[in-house]
Amino acid sequence: MKIKLFHTVCGREILVQQVLQTGGHCPWDGKPFNKDYTAVLAEALETAESAGNVLENALEKIAGMDPSFIIEPDSVLGEMRMYIDSLNERRKSGGRSREG
Ligand SMILES: [Zn+2]
Repeated sequence: MKIKLFHTVCGREILVQQVLQTGGHCPWDGKPFNKDYTAVLAEALETAESAGNVLENALEKIAGMDPSFIIEPDSVLGEMRMYIDSLNERRKSGGRSREG
């Protein structure tokens, strides 16, 4: 899994690996994504991406076993989508926005 981010200040695309290299700052303009939580944010992004990889691998394995059940997509993706949507909505509406 490669989580793709867009910095709302410069609009450029960023990968989690780049955020880890800069310790929570935009690799293009050096601004922190959150001035209070640069390291914690970078760490959480890394956790999300590696957890995503674990989830993808497990699902691939499950699908490969051709089991006699179907998976309800929302039971897997519902909350993830909710958190992403809520983050994106906040950025778009400018609420709680901090410079950087
Ligand atoms: Zn930027």
